[in-house]
Amino acid sequence: MAQAHGHSGEGEPRVLLVEDEQNLAAGLKLNFELEGYAVDVAGSGRQAGEFLLRGATYDVIVLDVMLPDTDGFALCRRLRDGGDFTPVLMLTALGTIDDRVAGLEAGADDYLAKPFELSELLARVRSLLRRRSWERSASVEASQGVYRFGAAVIDFDRQEATMGGREVKLTRLELDLLRYFADHPERVLSRQQLQEDVWKLANYPNTRMVDNFIMRLRRHFEADPAAPAHFLSVRGSGYRFVPDPSRGQGDR
Ligand code: CA
Repeated sequence: MAQAHGHSGEGEPRVLLVEDEQNLAAGLKLNFELEGYAVDVAGSGRQAGEFLLRGATYDVIVLDVMLPDTDGFALCRRLRDGGDFTPVLMLTALGTIDDRVAGLEAGADDYLAKPFELSELLARVRSLLRRRSWERSASVEASQGVYRFGAAVIDFDRQEATMGGREVKLTRLELDLLRYFADHPERVLSRQQLQEDVWKLANYPNTRMVDNFIMRLRRHFEADPAAPAHFLSVRGSGYRFVPDPSRGQGDR
């Protein structure tokens, strides 16, 4: 397949590959190009930062966790904190579920442990690209993705939110949890259920991640995060989302 190199075609998906192992990076770059992607390779966190600061936009970022000058978790968190929600696929030699959780908490969209099959990586990247283009077309077609509760307005299609008119930056994981609550209002949801249904973490014993994300949602959307009106703790059971507290009688 003859491929135009560089960034000639506007239509070709753009991939930023952050990987310090040169042989692996070269092999992946070639395979991405065979898929028809335009690829930039960064060998360090600093280089990745340069690409991103230069204002380059990507459709997917493939991010190695072990980098010479930083780790992928920190880099991903920095991206998300800066309001960049480009889909991130994390690569790591550390295949434990704790790293998967760390990656997801840092705002990654997917996770693949080294060593991986090339076909598996390509399939994951394709899936992130599909989701991205689906989101784009969905945001043009449909506007019923707008959801309101209290002073919050969430546009799930555009991945945008405001609270009392002020913009709120949400990570994909926060959005996923919020959408799940919006789909299951007034129901008591256990931490296990949330972990499994929202993040596909089945049988993961440590549910602290759920609590962390609830805290984040409260910080974003509660007038008083210490006395939540929407994201309620249900003692010994989990959490309950109450879109309109004025309508309910029996709190908790
Ligand atoms: Ca590495």
